[in-house]
Amino acid sequence: MVDQLKGIAASDGIAIAKAYLLTEPDLSYDRLDQVDVAVEEKRLDDAVEQTVSQISEIRDTAKERLGADEAKVFDAHLMVAQDPEWIGQMKSTIQSQAINAEAALQDVSSMFITLFEGMEDNPYMQERAADIRDVSKRILANLLGVRIPSPASIKDEVVVIAHDLTPSDTAQLDRRYVKGFVTNIGGRTSHSAIMARSLEIPAVVGTQSVVAAVKDGDLVIVDGLEGDVIVNPDQATLDSYKAKAEEFERLRQEWAKLVNAETITKDGKHFELAANIGTPKDLSGALENGAEAIGLYRTEFLYMDSAEFPTEEEQFKAYKAVLEGMEGKPVVVRTMDIGGDKELPYLQLPEEMNPFLGYRAIRICLHEPEMFRTQLRALLRASVYGRLRIMFPMIATLSEFRSAKKMLEEEKAKLVSEGVPVAEGIEVGIMIEIPAAAVLAHQFAKEVDFFSIGTNDLIQYTMAADRMNQGVSYLYQPYNPSILSLVRHVIESAHKEGKWAGMCGEMAGDQIAVPLLVGLGLDEFSMSASSILKTRSLMAKLSQAEMKELAHKAIEECTTVEEVVALVEKAVH
Ligand code: PEP
Ligand code: MG
Repeated sequence: MVDQLKGIAASDGIAIAKAYLLTEPDLSYDRLDQVDVAVEEKRLDDAVEQTVSQISEIRDTAKERLGADEAKVFDAHLMVAQDPEWIGQMKSTIQSQAINAEAALQDVSSMFITLFEGMEDNPYMQERAADIRDVSKRILANLLGVRIPSPASIKDEVVVIAHDLTPSDTAQLDRRYVKGFVTNIGGRTSHSAIMARSLEIPAVVGTQSVVAAVKDGDLVIVDGLEGDVIVNPDQATLDSYKAKAEEFERLRQEWAKLVNAETITKDGKHFELAANIGTPKDLSGALENGAEAIGLYRTEFLYMDSAEFPTEEEQFKAYKAVLEGMEGKPVVVRTMDIGGDKELPYLQLPEEMNPFLGYRAIRICLHEPEMFRTQLRALLRASVYGRLRIMFPMIATLSEFRSAKKMLEEEKAKLVSEGVPVAEGIEVGIMIEIPAAAVLAHQFAKEVDFFSIGTNDLIQYTMAADRMNQGVSYLYQPYNPSILSLVRHVIESAHKEGKWAGMCGEMAGDQIAVPLLVGLGLDEFSMSASSILKTRSLMAKLSQAEMKELAHKAIEECTTVEEVVALVEKAVH
């Protein structure tokens, strides 16, 4: 049956492949007694054997794709799966109670989990409880003949279908096999979508019903340009999408010619096009796409990819790698921005009603000074390897900025007194992503070296529309005159004080927004690497003087987003 779903276009391109459902499997079973003990023991042995070989395979893939450190957790799982005491207890439970293997597995595992979780002052044993939970789920699935999907075990070309993808699921997707993905929930600026763009995997998010509509093995077309998903297409539809994919490839090759070109409008105004990255590994994509700078390095992924706080040395190495890789071009490193949809299991943040309005980013850093100072020291030590700019996220008040900057200066003074070299003239800026800071940009501009407008959050806070909630995505309006007006105030305030203003939210690479931002005089545009070349191509067709008038009209005369879009399309596209 052909089925068509609509979602939010999250990452450009067309993918056509078989569906792979990355969803929670049904692991329900009946508890049986008076069973044939020998049969159940044999079932348990087989399931354990299968589990051991699956975990070994996942560990090997994880090692290859993510490195030995990331694979360590699977070594722990293997030890659990082969633990003679645990397996022995399950067998004696089957023998003594004549219950089926599923029930024995559950009884014995629950007992161990409760025991280990109760050891509150022993984090090592608490981690073992998590391992037992994971491994027993896998054994149960094998007893029931059910597959547990895992991003790391994908070995064929597929389109991944999921309710949602966490940033860590997304990090495990291998571009060689995962041709696209589609989710039920999420928006264009959820972090799985942002990562899809840096991996250049076509994606559609927020379809609401893709998990129910698609079965494993269905043929799926993902149109990441329009936000369409077609399930089991007929031949004519398939042919038309193949043609569309070819056309997109042709355009991509056109844009690729601009990789070493300057970014300049047709009336000769230069703009800086920078890339957003999440890890040093993203650097190659940024350079291949002609980035002139790194406008946002989201360092929280360094924290999220690790089982505990990264040490000063680990951080230093990552920052140094990025600075050296950019060979003297500017690199804006944002200090840790955990919270919202970015969780850190070992930090144990309290459950919150509104995580996006809660304890996150600079708020955590100012309350955990040791953690923050470790990051600042790593940054300062790395500063001599390139052109570092430091940026604080989620700044709401000048007091927060002053406190953060004071800590930075204190760490710098300490390092200098220890004889450690630190670069002179490191620019220190803030993200403008809270309306309070945007409104007071004229005050902030006197104290900061630069602004980078984080529209992903600024839009959600200004419109009071959660960036992750597709139910209110109609209100998530980058071109709303209210947003444009705030952006104008930020840029003008920076310029009045002789400072520069950039933007690192997704709006900076949005093809409707770019002409308006050129008109408003934004200095630096930082975006997913995959958007850089098409933006350079667009800017070459614009006149800054004309765009200035366009932006003025959009803010002063348009009353709705639809009017703004019509105005831009008439003038540009
Ligand atoms: C933003 O809010 O625009 C931004 C760039 O930060 P993040 O998407 O990481 O919240
Ligand atoms: Mg943000």
